[in-house]
Amino acid sequence: MTATLANLLSNNHGLRVFCDACKRVADIDVNAIAAKYGGSVTLTEIGAKARCNECGGLGGSVQVVAVR
Ligand SMILES: [Zn+2]
Repeated sequence: MTATLANLLSNNHGLRVFCDACKRVADIDVNAIAAKYGGSVTLTEIGAKARCNECGGLGGSVQVVAVR
C-alpha cells in the first residue's frame, strides 16, 4: 500500500523531501500540498512532481518520506 496525503494528515505525519543530487533536505507543508493536489495523491506522485529548490533537480533525484 502506498501512503497518500490523506493518510499523512490522518496520522498527523509530516512530509520530508531529500534531494540526491545536492543532499538538500526540506520539510513540506502537507496541508498546503493536500489543498493543491488533493488528498488522494500518493507520496510516489509527490516525489515525481517535487522540484529541489536548491539545485532544481526534478523527479528521479528527489525522494519523499513521512515523518512525525
Ligand atoms: Zn537538489
